[in-house]
Amino acid sequence: MKSGELLRELYHCLHCHLCNFADWHALDEWLPLCPSYSYFGFESFSASGKMEIARALLSGGLKPSSRTLQVLFSDLGCGACHSQCHGLTGLKVDHVELFEELKAMLVERGYGPMPKQKSYAESIRRNHNPYWEKHEKRTAWLEEELPSQARTVYFVGCTSSYRQKEIARSTIEILLRSGEEFALLGREEWCCGSPLLRTGQRKLAKELAEHNLEALRKAGAKTVVFSCAGCYRTFSKDYPRLLGRELGMELLHTSQYFLRILSGRKLKGKGRKVTYHDPCHLGRGMGVYEPPRELLRLVSGSLIEMKRSRENSWCCGAGSGVKSAFPDFALWSASKRLEEAEKTGAEVLVSSCPFCKRNLEDAGRKRGGMEVKDLSELLAEALA
Ligand code: SF4
Ligand code: SF4
Repeated sequence: MKSGELLRELYHCLHCHLCNFADWHALDEWLPLCPSYSYFGFESFSASGKMEIARALLSGGLKPSSRTLQVLFSDLGCGACHSQCHGLTGLKVDHVELFEELKAMLVERGYGPMPKQKSYAESIRRNHNPYWEKHEKRTAWLEEELPSQARTVYFVGCTSSYRQKEIARSTIEILLRSGEEFALLGREEWCCGSPLLRTGQRKLAKELAEHNLEALRKAGAKTVVFSCAGCYRTFSKDYPRLLGRELGMELLHTSQYFLRILSGRKLKGKGRKVTYHDPCHLGRGMGVYEPPRELLRLVSGSLIEMKRSRENSWCCGAGSGVKSAFPDFALWSASKRLEEAEKTGAEVLVSSCPFCKRNLEDAGRKRGGMEVKDLSELLAEALA
């Protein structure tokens, strides 16, 4: 949308505040859904408040202050507001895209991002990952020699490579035990660029996209499989936009790929009661709600839904650079999710994104709480 059209569209926000709550019609109660509005408690942190800020910035009536930066760079980009607003009003704005656009505009004008967010951009420039880890250690978790050429390539992602290595290991176990032919990019894999794109730092992201796609082309990839919901969304939605072309490869989240290769196989789950947390990038971002649930029904005793699930999911609080720049807010959001998960009576909270697992586990460590697992870990157990 051009900025003139966008500005006109922004005037159509009714300030009805329905974007702050989960769908009342489906749930029959008013449950909060916008973490930033719930945590900070000011209108400016809600979607409609950010639309006001957008209007003022686009019409030149607002000079960004440190408070403006705090409001915009603490936005999670979880998309809960967008799914509520679009279901209930005629507003044509894509809230997530708008907030990302505003951040990019500010960065271009020399405002923001937050210091921690700038710092991981520097790490990506030097090490190809946001964690200030050496690039040579990207495959340190790997125990076996694996091919570097195949039609199917597993794109591991930075968080599974350096922080939640158990997810990368479980994924490899599943692929090996299923007899799938697949390759890894190894050190040719670089950060997908999601942490940059979510914080308005677009320049370097394009270089990463070009590098990763060239590496995949050389590997002979026709299908690319992702553990990380963020990488999956970045390749699927951001890369074509950044590069102005379709990628010409099939892109799948592991939940979709595992369902394809494991359907009809005998799986021996431990029969535990589980509940499922929809990662925002996978659910609202890419519309993938059912494959993880279908797999969980195969390996768990029962799958009990939280009140807020699918489009109505509460964000874990980690995304868009919030975990590093606003750690208290990120952990608060995750602890709210843990509280909700515990109320289901489930033994395990399962997600299908390494960054969700990381934040939910961190919150659980702080307050004590239920076990958190990635879907791939449960599937690897069931195939053992
Ligand atoms: S639901 Fe949409 S129209 Fe209503 S306040 Fe939120 S953004 Fe504005
Ligand atoms: S994207 Fe998420 S955190 Fe941001 S305004 Fe919308 S609901 Fe709130």
